[in-house]
Amino acid sequence: MAARDRYSRKLECAKCDHTGFAEVSETDDRRAMSRDFKIDEMPRGFSTERPSTDPRKHMVRCRCGSVFPFEQDTVYAPGGEPRR
Ligand SMILES: [Zn+2]
Repeated sequence: MAARDRYSRKLECAKCDHTGFAEVSETDDRRAMSRDFKIDEMPRGFSTERPSTDPRKHMVRCRCGSVFPFEQDTVYAPGGEPRR
């Protein structure tokens, strides 16, 4: 049986600069089809907008109303396209 990786990750709202650390876990089985990502504890001021087992698709809502994916590998300018 595969164990789960636990880690905390900083959430940062690009709109209002609100930050917090989420406690998350996902499978450490590299052959698994899904990372089976799950947020165990949301920091104050953030909530789940749309859950997903993929952190790039898991949408988080900030207290200011801004919604963004949990994991982003590009920096988004507010309202803009990802920079390349
Ligand atoms: Zn915000």
